[in-house]
Amino acid sequence: MRKNLKLLGELQEIDLKVDGLRGEKEGLLAEVANLEQQVAGVQSEIAAKNGELAALEEERQRLEESLAAETDNIARSEVRLKEIKTQKEYQAVSKEVSTAKKLKAELEEQILQKISQIEELKGDIAGGEENLRALEENVAGQKGEVQNKIEQLEAAIVADTTVREAAAKGLPASVMRRYGLLREQRRGIAVVEAKDGYCLGCNMQLPPQLYNTLFRGDELIACPHCQRVLLLRQEEKE
Ligand SMILES: [Zn+2]
Repeated sequence: MRKNLKLLGELQEIDLKVDGLRGEKEGLLAEVANLEQQVAGVQSEIAAKNGELAALEEERQRLEESLAAETDNIARSEVRLKEIKTQKEYQAVSKEVSTAKKLKAELEEQILQKISQIEELKGDIAGGEENLRALEENVAGQKGEVQNKIEQLEAAIVADTTVREAAAKGLPASVMRRYGLLREQRRGIAVVEAKDGYCLGCNMQLPPQLYNTLFRGDELIACPHCQRVLLLRQEEKE
């Protein structure tokens, strides 16, 4: 049983180490996801602006078509003016021409506005794309570093898992079951040190008689408060 206790202590130590490595790895994976999210965020901003640009170009195109139609109208009306015989008709067509010219001027003004909006947006997009390239480069570098760390952690986890298997093989199945259950119920910590009459898992005082039996080390003793298996370090020194 003394050997079981020693193995359990080793198992607990290595499992906590692996838990820590796994936690570290998860943190790094979250870092990678966060970096990828940053890039995706900038990409979708640029995509939205490109959509806006396409809409502006379309509006501009429609305005240009209206302008061309209006210019044709004016030209036709001006030809007609030359052939008109009556004063009344002349006035009517003249009025049409001046209305059309006003409309044409408005269209030209609107087109100029669209062009300046388009230019501004294009500049905006170019700036965004430049930022994106810098960000992507930066992220690629960071991801590479993080990926290296992750690989190192994975190698350490594999190595520790091999050591763990060896320790686990030396323990009876019933002890392993109890250990596994306690790990689930007690946030990963199933085996704790008892010191100066206290359980270091829950910091509660142990009954003196129970504490004394720990010195014999001939059975697995649970803390009556947190049910973790108690381990006495002193016994190793003896
Ligand atoms: Zn306890």
